[in-house]
Amino acid sequence: MTLRIVLLGAPGAGKGTQAQRLAATHGLVHISTGDMFRAHLKQGTELGQRVQDYLSSGRLVPDDLTCAIVTDRLVQPDCAQGYILDGFPRSAPQAEALDAFFTDNGQKLDVAVDIAVADEDIVDRLSARRSCPACGAIYNLKYGPSKRGGLCDRENCSGELILRDDDREETIRKRLQVYHQTTAPVIGYYGNQGILKTVDATGLTPDDVFARIEEILCGLKGA
Ligand code: AMP
Repeated sequence: MTLRIVLLGAPGAGKGTQAQRLAATHGLVHISTGDMFRAHLKQGTELGQRVQDYLSSGRLVPDDLTCAIVTDRLVQPDCAQGYILDGFPRSAPQAEALDAFFTDNGQKLDVAVDIAVADEDIVDRLSARRSCPACGAIYNLKYGPSKRGGLCDRENCSGELILRDDDREETIRKRLQVYHQTTAPVIGYYGNQGILKTVDATGLTPDDVFARIEEILCGLKGA
């Protein structure tokens, strides 16, 4: 079964971690708009320069730029095997643009999974998050540290782990505010379509959240 999944949730809800794991388990392509923008920033492309201020201040990149980068990615041949969108859509116009893409390409979304976490938990988690700029691996000082301290412990990596600028407390609060204003309506959008599933992740470990999402996907396959 070709799965097309949207993962929703505030920044720091664990979308990236779950998306990486789901992609590996189900052979899906993991598409993270945040990772794509960061790759452009790192490579110093024109797009990277255009999005730099948005990323460092925690504001959303304009919809037209974001939708273009996603739809360009979705038409790549590897996406025919199914994909997980992590961090997109993040506004009602983005959700509408994604639906327009599906209509044009004869595809449909199977499920939108919302990973719901209380704001204070998010602040707690994100300020303990460490990322590997080399391979994109995510660690957490409290819940899942690297076995090699400040270095990435993935095979053939050893990147030096960093606290992303946008994971600093002040920026996290700004991102949460943006999330509640702009992204939360996307939850209602998929609720109205009848394809929304919510996992209340407050107090759950990443393994527990993964197990809940797997149950949801199993339900789809049985449907
Ligand atoms: P993330 O790693 O998903 O938290 O994304 C990091 C940053 O990239 C966000 O704070 C935004 O500035 C930008 N970004 C990622 N995805 C989107 C999106 N769907 N729409 C607009 N901006 C985005």
